[in-house]
Amino acid sequence: MTYRKEIVPPGLERVLFTEAQVNRRIAEIAAEISAKYTERPLKLIGVLKGSVFFLTALARLITVPVKIDFLAISTFAPQPRASGGVVRISKDLDEGIENEDVLLVEDIVDTGLTTRYLLQMLAGRGPNTLGICTLLDRTSKRLVPVTIHYRCFEIPDRFVVGCGLDYKQLYRNLGYLAVLDPAAVTAD
Ligand code: 5GP
Repeated sequence: MTYRKEIVPPGLERVLFTEAQVNRRIAEIAAEISAKYTERPLKLIGVLKGSVFFLTALARLITVPVKIDFLAISTFAPQPRASGGVVRISKDLDEGIENEDVLLVEDIVDTGLTTRYLLQMLAGRGPNTLGICTLLDRTSKRLVPVTIHYRCFEIPDRFVVGCGLDYKQLYRNLGYLAVLDPAAVTAD
């Protein structure tokens, strides 16, 4: 199966944001971040695997010195693919963040439970500042309040893939954001 740019492959319903729109918005956010963090190097923390594409695109456009680190989480969801399950760290950061200016980079904040868990964990490690930057925000599903400092797009209550977000590990490499076709969702 080959994916051609913005011709929706099987399993997808429609394009939500084109690659050009995504890139433009990431550039805007990168400019905002570059204007804010001028004093000391900024540490971007990505959550594997969903935020990898967004983090790298963002980092390349930030004009102040940047360090990066990653953590991975496992979510024990109440149902497959459901948001809001119990979160556990399956790969920790390589380095400490004490006294650093940290920006947690997320693919999507949905219920907010994952982000809240990660923020509490990171805050306990003594960063100088701790902010959140997310590619997508679905405020309609929020269960706990989360202050988001930088976000690219607010999205409707539909399952979205592309730009790092997957369905069964597929579609992460799409440069655009698309709505998954509900007919393509299987129970396994
Ligand atoms: P939260 O804890 O905020 O409910 O869940 C965040 C996680 O749920 C995301 O990191 C992502 O793994 C998953 N998620 C929520 N909504 C979507 C979506 O529309 N598409 C994809 N691919 N993952 C989603």
